[in-house]
Amino acid sequence: MDVDNLKNALAGVMRGEVSDDAETLKGASRDTSLFERMPELVVYPEDANDVSAIVREVQGLRGKGQEISLAARSAGTDMSGGPLTTGVVVSFIKHMNKMGPVRQAQGEEAGYAVTEPGVFYRDFEKATLAKGLILPSYPASREIAAMGGIVANNSGGERTLEYGQTEKYVEEMDVVLSDGSQATFKSLTPAELAEKKNLQTLEGNIYREMDALLTENTKLIESHRPKVSKNSAGYALWSIRDAKTNTFNLAKLICGSQGTLALWTSAKLALVKPKEHRAMLVIFLYNLDILPEIVKRVLPQNPESFESFDDHTFTLAVKLIPGMLGQMGFARAAKLGIDFIPEALMVATGGVPKLLLMIEFAEDTIDEADRKATKTRDALADLNLKMKIEKDERESEKYWIVRRESFNLLRKNVHGLHTAPFIDDFVVPPACYPEFLPKLTALLEEYKSHFIYTIAGHVGDGNFHIIPLMDLSKEENRQVILDLAPRVYELVIKEGGTTTGEHNDGIIRTPYLPMLFGAEMVALFERTKKIFDPLNIFNPGKKVGGTFADIKRDMIKGRG
Ligand SMILES: Cc1cc2nc3c(=O)[nH]c(=O)nc-3n(C[C@H](O)[C@H](O)[C@H](O)COP(=O)(O)OP(=O)(O)OC[C@H]3O[C@@H](n4cnc5c(N)ncnc54)[C@H](O)[C@@H]3O)c2cc1C
Repeated sequence: MDVDNLKNALAGVMRGEVSDDAETLKGASRDTSLFERMPELVVYPEDANDVSAIVREVQGLRGKGQEISLAARSAGTDMSGGPLTTGVVVSFIKHMNKMGPVRQAQGEEAGYAVTEPGVFYRDFEKATLAKGLILPSYPASREIAAMGGIVANNSGGERTLEYGQTEKYVEEMDVVLSDGSQATFKSLTPAELAEKKNLQTLEGNIYREMDALLTENTKLIESHRPKVSKNSAGYALWSIRDAKTNTFNLAKLICGSQGTLALWTSAKLALVKPKEHRAMLVIFLYNLDILPEIVKRVLPQNPESFESFDDHTFTLAVKLIPGMLGQMGFARAAKLGIDFIPEALMVATGGVPKLLLMIEFAEDTIDEADRKATKTRDALADLNLKMKIEKDERESEKYWIVRRESFNLLRKNVHGLHTAPFIDDFVVPPACYPEFLPKLTALLEEYKSHFIYTIAGHVGDGNFHIIPLMDLSKEENRQVILDLAPRVYELVIKEGGTTTGEHNDGIIRTPYLPMLFGAEMVALFERTKKIFDPLNIFNPGKKVGGTFADIKRDMIKGRG
């Protein structure tokens, strides 16, 4: 269908706007991945009814043989290509950005917040903190990401070690299904599920077929339940039924499904009351060989976070910090500038550690947090490490800035090279570090003429973010992306790990799902997709049907 006709057709059924101006399309053609896809249109629904109208219209056109599809987009910070499409972008950020109620815990019920997808996390947190609560699975991109992707990617972050990832907090979700109908997915008792299965609608069909799929394949699904502490790969078929409560909740499946099964328009998320005080044990690690022993001794002390960044990130941060400080207020910038002097000296004298480890303890009193940090330092004393304890969150702020901003620092400040997230999010069990890490480093060394890279990540969870910087205008460098990733994933899978803990599959990892889960599970993912979206309207090629040819074709081919 000609774009003008499609534009008019969509504008005619919704209250929100439809845009096809070049600048808007260019903006929507990128996220923070290494891909670009130019959409035909961007639509801005005002509410769930608008979303329904858009989906219904597209479904009608698909029925007439038109190849039109929809990709949801919230803040567009995805690193996997999740919101990119050559079809129509459904952008939630402009209108569907309202918070619903935020409630304190009452009796058995946890505190919760209701939100639309277009709410930025930073605004969501302001509203929840006003009630003394937070969503503890927020990502490092907390200043730029929105709830839409946090839920649809099953995001995790620095506190996931203690609190788990987003799926754990998703209680209820209002969604628009692939025929434009609306449904609320939440925890159902067996009697409620039976009632749903009687509905003669797409929703009823989804319940009937998903229940059958789970019953027929219980063993297969259970045996593929991820064995590491976080996972965003595939469809979370193992999370729908809760054996403990004997309930069935499709919201757990929609979480992490990257807009491929349904578009969510409102979600109820459980919240926690954060501990008030934090003390951080900082380790300047010069010898990576003892990392496994450190992790083994630290994890039993139950830190809230156990994060890290490497020497490349450290050096870049020190170089780029003056520019970053310029964007902050004078007083904060001046304080942080002074705080960074010891790190600047380390860079100047060649004393930069290979890895900086941040082990943070959260408690109700600063004395208790400090006691735990001190106990952990004592437990490591015989390893002869350079360590220090930051008792005050203002003192540890500089490390958090570098950790959270590590990817952005690269993306915005290294010119001529492109950040290339393609082995950016795998997870391995921390117990395998002694065998795994040397093999990984040897592999990265083999390709070192093609890129420089930084490593940051959640050491405690075994979740590593390796971000190469590459000149993507060179064909041989782009080929490295296709050659190296399967070799890294082979190592990861051998150790019982997963290809993605929180950044999700998108364009970059969907083709690796057969390698990770095997043909039988992939067939179940395909069946799931068919049950929800028989015409393949929602985000085709993500989670199901994505190919290596997609990766090759849509990679950015310019310099950074
Ligand atoms: C500097 C940096 C650090 C990062 N750190 C982390 C991290 O620590 N942890 C982490 O998990 N991620 C991280 N990310 C990746 C990304 O920021 C997060 O996954 C974030 O949650 C995405 O949110 P978003 O609103 O920008 O999603 P988008 O990019 O807009 O979308 C992400 C996916 O969700 C789908 N989607 C969006 N809205 C909806 C909806 N309403 N219904 C259905 N599907 C929808 C999209 O189609 C897409 O597939 C980081 C990114 C950057 C740039």
